[in-house]
Amino acid sequence: MEIQEIKQRLTLAMLLQHYGLKADKQNRLKCPFHNDKTPSLQLYYKTQTAYCFSTNCNTHGKAIDVIDFILYYEKCTKHEAIKKAESIINPGAVTTQTTAPKQANEKAMFLERMFTYFKNAVHNSKPAREYIESRNLDHKQLEIGYNAGQFHHGARKDESLINDCLKYGILLDLGLKSRTGETAYKPFGKWCIVFA
Ligand SMILES: [Zn+2]
Repeated sequence: MEIQEIKQRLTLAMLLQHYGLKADKQNRLKCPFHNDKTPSLQLYYKTQTAYCFSTNCNTHGKAIDVIDFILYYEKCTKHEAIKKAESIINPGAVTTQTTAPKQANEKAMFLERMFTYFKNAVHNSKPAREYIESRNLDHKQLEIGYNAGQFHHGARKDESLINDCLKYGILLDLGLKSRTGETAYKPFGKWCIVFA
């Protein structure tokens, strides 16, 4: 959710209710951001901001918008305050909204890394370059990779790589075993030229 949208949808009244705070008739309350004896925090419903008049207060001198309010109240980062604001506006919806783009991003980053590796393999494989030329394709112009099927072997073999490969379909576990008794995976597009 954009900060602008949060500020449109989240009101001070919602925050007071969320944190169990109550303002007096003059829209003032004992400031929750410092040890306040008299109500020093003035609420301005017109601008949806608050202002603490106490010089003892961390927030003194600045107008506090709804996101700052959460930030000071929770003593958290701005990023966390935004997440919290979203969860107050939209209880229950936040977890799926925040995790889905992250997963998509991890997948894209992983596949990009693999494709870079496949592209480099074209430079290292004369037969692959000859085959690409025979198909009238120019690997210097086009984004073409070559998968020798070795990316999960030798020095490159590590568990997190293999797990990511399995997760994103670059390796398939068909339940086969190699001669040494280890699990043998079937690589996606082995001995093929590959395109992103
Ligand atoms: Zn204060």
